[in-house]
Amino acid sequence: MTSDIASVSLPDGERIPALGQGTWEMGEAPARRAAEIAALRCGIELGMTLIDTAEMYGDGATETLLGEALAGVRDRVFLVSKVYPHNASRRGVIAACEQSLKRLKTDRLDLYLLHWRGSVPLAETVQAFEALRAAGKIRHWGVSNFDTDDMEELLAAPGGDACATNQILYNVARRGPEFDLLPWLAARKMPAMAYSPVDHARLPKRSPLDDIADARGVSVFQVALAWVLLKPGVCAIPKSGRVEHVRDNHRASQLRLSADELAALDTYFKPPRSKRALEML
Ligand code: NAP
Repeated sequence: MTSDIASVSLPDGERIPALGQGTWEMGEAPARRAAEIAALRCGIELGMTLIDTAEMYGDGATETLLGEALAGVRDRVFLVSKVYPHNASRRGVIAACEQSLKRLKTDRLDLYLLHWRGSVPLAETVQAFEALRAAGKIRHWGVSNFDTDDMEELLAAPGGDACATNQILYNVARRGPEFDLLPWLAARKMPAMAYSPVDHARLPKRSPLDDIADARGVSVFQVALAWVLLKPGVCAIPKSGRVEHVRDNHRASQLRLSADELAALDTYFKPPRSKRALEML
């Protein structure tokens, strides 16, 4: 199926969908399992083939659920997982990756991220990522929750310039990265992967998002997602365990906010005028 979803470029030129799917909190409740698998598979059919998970989610249960959802469609997906900082040593990364591959029922990850920065020296983690890449277990590696100074340090470490992306908290209500981190990444042709693009369903109760949603006959979630997707060099991974919300999220990728709508959002959700420390969930 041809996808109508835009794409963003990794630093090596490979293109990935600008709209994907998250999986945090999936695979934890047996009663929701079938709906979650259906939602993920619906998203894949709609072209939301960038799928993010982590060894942390559900203590491995989320990767197991995703492995089930990917049966027969694995090769159509750009699969992302993340390693815990406490597993980020040379041997720890390799062992953690093997476990993730087993749960996901695949022989390789398309992208492997350091979930957040811990105490293991960055050079050691990079070395482990490169060993996995040489062995064909991962195709790309990157980081998550790295602020600009962390990125500077990473790129100064041996091999650190092979980082493919930084997955960060970014949405209309959390615009801090616009001040320096997003421009820093853009200057290095590194896409930002926006997590919690609808703010983990905690968007403000009443804001211009509602006015735009009412006028357009869409939901506030769709407006918030459309806003993120308008940003160049940014891809977004909303999580939904419901087919109807996945369909809404897909439709949001076709929503073009007008200059007036964007201005109303800027007035309420002000862009940063100074450095704000990177937030994380
Ligand atoms: P999110 O995607 O912003 O929001 C998810 C919540 O919004 C869920 O409660 C979902 O409920 C609801 N939702 C999604 N689309 C909706 C729609 N169209 N209409 C109504 N409700 C909708 O938050 P997130 O899960 O925190 O972030 C997304 C993904 O990013 C995660 O799943 C995870 O893969 C990744 N992440 C990474 C980090 C990190 O540290 N690297 C941190 C947080 C998240 P339903 O399921 O009921 O639709």
